[in-house]
Amino acid sequence: MKLAVIEGDGIGKEVISSAVKVLDALSLPIEKVPLEVGLRKWEKCGVAITDEDMETIKECDCILFGAVTTPPDPDYKSVLLTIRKELDMYANIRPIKPLAGITGITGRNDFDFVIVRENTEGMYSGIEELHDDVSYTTRVITRKGSKRIAEYACKLAKTRKNNLTIVHKSNVLKSDKLFLDVCRDTARYQDIDYKDMLVDSMAYSLICSPQKYDVIVTTNLFGDILSDMSAALVGSLGLVPSANIGEKHAFFEPVHGSAPDIAMKGIANPIAAVLSLKMMLEWHDDTEEAKIVEDAVNHVLTQKIRTPDINGSARTKDIEYALVDYVRKQLA
Ligand code: ATP
Repeated sequence: MKLAVIEGDGIGKEVISSAVKVLDALSLPIEKVPLEVGLRKWEKCGVAITDEDMETIKECDCILFGAVTTPPDPDYKSVLLTIRKELDMYANIRPIKPLAGITGITGRNDFDFVIVRENTEGMYSGIEELHDDVSYTTRVITRKGSKRIAEYACKLAKTRKNNLTIVHKSNVLKSDKLFLDVCRDTARYQDIDYKDMLVDSMAYSLICSPQKYDVIVTTNLFGDILSDMSAALVGSLGLVPSANIGEKHAFFEPVHGSAPDIAMKGIANPIAAVLSLKMMLEWHDDTEEAKIVEDAVNHVLTQKIRTPDINGSARTKDIEYALVDYVRKQLA
């Protein structure tokens, strides 16, 4: 397998460096292709990702990605949107599951759900018109886009509790009526237990009763917001991984961004990046290795080796060394 490794900006560099050390400890036949994209490239070359970078990425099977800083410049073309669109990675998968000994803001650890976010359209269509006194963003919902994300979510639900929640705002956003109808039809056809929720009620319900949910399917912006919010249930943005899946390629990244406030301080939590690596291993059917990585994370947390975002005093490197040590011992 050929893996593009993009550290990106800010803490992306620190957390991906740790995830790669864990990957190396597994000694799998994976060819790593390092690529520099993001803010630094934009400052140097005027673009954050070049056509050559995209060609290299397309030659790889998948990508392990840290985070990029997006400057507030209207001419800046988002790296993430470019990659997701060019490779048509339509499904963004964000598992929300408690980790050993860590409880988030609600103090509960009885939940285990997955947010399946449509990744190519909705509010992130990229169709925008900016004027001095008015600006427009076109929210795009298509039958094709809705159907393939609904099918992905239903397939996933079948491997879990066969339960799907469709999240929308069709009472106000008429474009969501199409999304809702297609998701309902798909769930009905595939014999999945389903219900639907308005996104505002869903935000409240996820905080009050997260244990009620299994697979949640929603549009792009709602999925983005609900999954960051759900990271607070787990305990930190530094603990939540994600995958972007397409027909041919896949792209794995922590849910958090580049966190410039803590960059270069050596205290970023690498666990979200390491769990993103675990998702990559699962995607590639390296299930045994994926299990070792997950066990390593839970072992390290149980040992109370924790970064400051989860009330510890360990540094990024301390977590990395402990994870690598655990993996090596399992394989010895
Ligand atoms: P960006 O503009 O790239 O999205 P951001 O700082 O606005 O960056 P995030 O990177 O998602 O957004 O982070 C929000 C806050 O959460 C950060 O300021 C940081 O304090 C904390 N945080 C995020 N990721 C981690 C992590 N891996 N370890 C520790 N703290 C984190």
